[in-house]
Amino acid sequence: MDTQGILLVSYGSFEIDYLARIASSVKSEFQLPVNFTEKFIDLSVFYDPTRRQYDGNKLLKQIDNEYGSSKDKTIGLFHVDLFIPILTFIFGQAILQGKAGIVSSYRLKNELYGMPRNEDLLFNRFLKIIIHELGHAFGLIHCHIPTCVMRPGTYVEDIDQKKHTLCPKCRGILKIVVTR
Ligand SMILES: [Zn+2]
Ligand SMILES: [Zn+2]
Repeated sequence: MDTQGILLVSYGSFEIDYLARIASSVKSEFQLPVNFTEKFIDLSVFYDPTRRQYDGNKLLKQIDNEYGSSKDKTIGLFHVDLFIPILTFIFGQAILQGKAGIVSSYRLKNELYGMPRNEDLLFNRFLKIIIHELGHAFGLIHCHIPTCVMRPGTYVEDIDQKKHTLCPKCRGILKIVVTR
């Protein structure tokens, strides 16, 4: 039987060690094989000069087109500012019960909010966003348990309040989906 896994594709300037750390944390949360790779594409085609941001819907579609036929869930990792038309910005998004998702570290940086740079905090925020979007790809919807990674959040403070793990209820749903 084909085992489903997770693929993290770096479209940003993330170091290999950093990607390996993320992959290992994602693996321990989902208990599935996690691989990562680097992709070098011209992001300027996704740039919206009016908003001075990158089109999250087009990027999501791009990843779905490229990786959607795989059995794996693929998440594109970016360092640019992402938006969708109805929102000022997004930390990430994924196709519910689909194969693709995108996340960006851009809005997760303390410096953007006038606070001192904090690499550990940034790593944790990024990890939470990645696990959250993967949760959607596995069919999980938003959860209102305060510490659950599937709790929705608009601000970095919201992300800091939750853990990078699924609550028992969400974990139960994931287990059913993955073993099905
Ligand atoms: Zn969400
Ligand atoms: Zn939950």
